[in-house]
Amino acid sequence: MDKFFTQPNCDRCRKSLKNGRTMSMFNTDRLCLDSLETEHHRPDYHQAVEADHAEIKKGNYNFKGHACIKNKKARSF
Ligand SMILES: [Zn+2]
Repeated sequence: MDKFFTQPNCDRCRKSLKNGRTMSMFNTDRLCLDSLETEHHRPDYHQAVEADHAEIKKGNYNFKGHACIKNKKARSF
């Protein structure tokens, strides 16, 4: 199984990922939901999302930082 689903702790704060996990928009870090929230408040978050969507349009679904779960969350707020 992919490391994304088996990794037990957040790459950023080391908190347990048992209550939810997502992937960073900026790199391939696995984040807990608290760290995701922190990332959403970065001034350059919007640019990271744009870059991610631009890669998807090109058909590159493996763009660094992209994951389906994360994108659902990113679009829901
Ligand atoms: Zn975290």
